[in-house]
This record gives sequence, C-alpha cells and structure tokens, in this order.
Amino acid sequence: MIESPLLQNITGYAGGQWQQAAAETFDVDNPATGAVIAKVPFVTEQQVHDAIAAAKKAEKLTAPYPLETRRKWLEDIRDALTANRAEMGRILCLEHGKPLNEAQGEVDYAAGFFDYCAKNIEVLSPRNLNQKPKGCSWTVHFRPVGVVGLITPWNFPIGMIAKKLSAALAAGCPSVIKPASATPLTMVALFTLMDKYVDLPAGMVNLVMGKASMIGKVLSESPDVPMLSFTGSTEVGRQLIIDSAYSVKKLALELGGNAPFIVFDDADLDAAVDNLVANKFRGSGQTCVCANRIFAHEKIVDSFSQKLAERVRKMTVGDGINGDVDLGPLINRDGYNKVKRHLENALEQGATLVAGKKPSELNDDDLFFPPTVITGVTPQMVCSREETFGPLVPIASFSDENDVIAAGNDTEFGLASYVFTADVKRAQRVAAGLRFGHVGWNTGTGPTPEAPFGGMKMSGTGREGGEEGLFEFTEAQTVPRGF
Ligand code: ADP
Repeated sequence: MIESPLLQNITGYAGGQWQQAAAETFDVDNPATGAVIAKVPFVTEQQVHDAIAAAKKAEKLTAPYPLETRRKWLEDIRDALTANRAEMGRILCLEHGKPLNEAQGEVDYAAGFFDYCAKNIEVLSPRNLNQKPKGCSWTVHFRPVGVVGLITPWNFPIGMIAKKLSAALAAGCPSVIKPASATPLTMVALFTLMDKYVDLPAGMVNLVMGKASMIGKVLSESPDVPMLSFTGSTEVGRQLIIDSAYSVKKLALELGGNAPFIVFDDADLDAAVDNLVANKFRGSGQTCVCANRIFAHEKIVDSFSQKLAERVRKMTVGDGINGDVDLGPLINRDGYNKVKRHLENALEQGATLVAGKKPSELNDDDLFFPPTVITGVTPQMVCSREETFGPLVPIASFSDENDVIAAGNDTEFGLASYVFTADVKRAQRVAAGLRFGHVGWNTGTGPTPEAPFGGMKMSGTGREGGEEGLFEFTEAQTVPRGF
C-alpha cells in the first residue's frame, strides 16, 4: 500500500471536507508490479448530489469572486504543486507507470496551466464596445458559467485536471471533479494540497470517485450543472452529449485522436526521428497526441525507418520508479492486448517488423510492451484505422502531397497532426489542408498552457489553453447602458 503525506485521506471531498468513506472500495494497481497500492471508496449517488449542492452554494452570482482573489487561488495551487513536485510525481508514477522524471515533468506542466491563467486572467475583465449601437454604451461581462463537472482520463492524471481546473477557477466556477478510476490518487493528492495551502471557499472544488457511469449520469442530468468538461474516449463523450441533451449543457469535449505524422523528402530526418521518438513514446504511447500513423515520402522511407529503428532498439522499458527507463508499462491488460492485436493484424497483412518483438516472442506476464517499429503499413490495417495507444510505430510511404493530405484526413478524428518539411509554402498548404486542431511543423510537440488546443470532427469541441481556454468556462453577458 502506498504511504504518502499527501494521501492521509483517501476519500471524496465536498463542501471543504473530506467525505465519510463508504464501505465498498475499488483497487488502484501499480501497473509496473501489479500490486494493489490503494483501496478507494466508491462515492454513493447521494454523495454526488451532495457534492453538486456544495458546489452550488459556492456559486456567488451577485457578489462574484474578485479577479485578484481568483488569481491568488491559481498562484497558490501553482506554488503548492511546484513545492510538492517530487511527491506528486512519485504518486503519479506509482499509479500510472510513466517514468519518474516524466511524471515529475507532468507536475511542472500542470503548474504551468495555473501559472498561465494567473498571469492572463485580465482577459476576462469586462470589455466596453467601441461602437454605440442603439445609442447605448455596451459592456460585455464574462460571467462564470456556474457549477461545472470535470471528468478526466488516466493518461495525464495531473495534466488534464490542471487544464480544466485552472480555467474554471479563473472564471470563478465551482467544480465537481471525477478522476479516472485507474489513477485517482494523484487527484486526491491535489485535493490535499488545495485543502492545506489554498484559501478556496468551501464547495469551490469537490471530488467524487467511483462508478463512472453513475457519476456521469448524475452530472449530465443535473440542472444545477450547466457545463461539463470531459477528456476521454469518443464513446463516453457521445454518451455525455446524449445524457446532457435534456438539460442543454455547455460541453467541452476532448475525445480520441489518430494523429498523422508526415515526413517529406526534404525534411531533416534526424530531427524528424528525434521528434517522433519524443512524441510517440511519451507515456508509453498512451496519449491522444501521440503520432498514430507515420507517412514517410517514398524517397526517404527506408533511411528514415532505419534511423528510427536504430534509436528504438536502444530504448529501455521497465519500472519507472527505479531510475532511468525510457518507457514504463501500459496501463492495464486491455491496453496491452490492444497494442498486441494491432501488431499481429499488421504483420498478418504484410507489414515488416524492423524493431521490437514478434507477437509470439512477447512476454505477456507483465504490462511492459517493447517499443516497436513496422513498415509497409496500409490504410486497411487496424493500426491505421484505430488509435493504438501504445508504443507501436506504423510507417507507410507516399509520393504525392495531395494524396498524403487526403490520407492524413482519412479518419473521423482531428486532434493533433505533424508535418516535417523544409519548404515553407508546402508546410502552409499542408497545415491548411489538414483538418486537425494542432499541426506541428517540424516539431512533435503537443499542447502547452499558452496555446489553444482541441479537436475538430469527432475529436471534440472547445479549446483548452491560451486565451480561448480561459474563455471556455464563461458566458458572455452584454449590458447596454441607456444613458
Ligand atoms: P480513457 O480510457 O482514455 O480514460 P474513458 O472515456 O474510458 O477514456 O474514460 C475517461 C474518463 O471518463 C474516466 O474518468 C472514466 O472513468 C470516465 N467515464 C467512463 N465512462 C463514463 C460515463 N459513462 N460517464 C461519465 N464518465 C465516464
């Protein structure tokens, strides 16, 4: 069992209090060892309603929280995260499996969102129109949308909540937060920090853990929750849209991805390899911005694949808590089996294995999947159609610019994409043609606090990060003044 000063209470939190633990619990495993590291009580349906009611009490409509008060909350959370990065990173590493340095880097990344919102909160100040339509002076206020439900996935246990909570608090919205059941401990630790070090009004942040479908339904149907912000699968996102239709909610949804990574023949191949390695193997390939389909120009596909394979063969896989490994385990057996199925299917359909192990050579006793590179990939293979969410790099070749734009867009998703070329004009054409919310040009970097990030098509709605992200939890209210 995990011992930590940040995990003295492992229960829900509502109205500024740790909740009474229900008798029934679920297990949290360390995916690197399979050991159960914590038992977390399931929230009851009544407790979810109570958390919403507590949040509702913190919603101060006629006396909104002043901008400087909100800024201080954000700064204090940033500082608490930074001061506790080592312990937060350790908890994150133990429940998620990503290497310790990567886990601690995620804590810094999370602190960056609170920092950005604190420094840029003025964009939410009221704005006076320059024109005087209808003879009035018009002021636009950015009001908090109200109580928000924040539902986060397991792949970034602190990063994802940081994006949502920073913007929600900047706007002055109380929240009811539900972490993924695979990784609730980092969230509990965040609540411990907020409870101890941040002067938040009771009910401003509330934590519910347990049965996702019940919690999702209560939040979706509640008339007291005008907005949900969710990151996770398209399937669950669609369910939330359906369930919240009756109460007509504002929805911010960051759903699946199927990122293309396009390398033209004029690209700096070493830089492309470096960026692909950094992008693809973060979190063992379990991020929605990881390159999922690699398209290399036919003139360079062999040399690019060889360079990549050489790098990948040197990468190490193991328990991230023990020191310097490049990749940790996959999150669970389903995740592992999916990567294996994608590899098997591609090899059956004629792909060539250039780094990694054949499916028959894999050690299925644990969740460590070796970084793997295959070439000769076609659009029919499952790894081209579905997001693999693991360390499998499938490489296809192309010859024509328009064809590769069409191939990149041949997915219902539209989150992240990447293009490597030295030709500015070509990069501009390709970026404009790709229906993705993020197009990395000669970089595999993903979202940052300063830039808006989000999906097109079935990758979702809304933006996190940047000024756009700050406005996400507000409603514009116009007040014309008739004198
Ligand atoms: P992932 O497997 O990437 O975490 P999911 O969509 O399965 O993606 O889960 C994302 C988050 O949504 C998790 O917190 C999960 O517990 C939660 N979730 C799963 N099913 C539902 C549901 N029916 N309603 C609300 N939240 C759900």
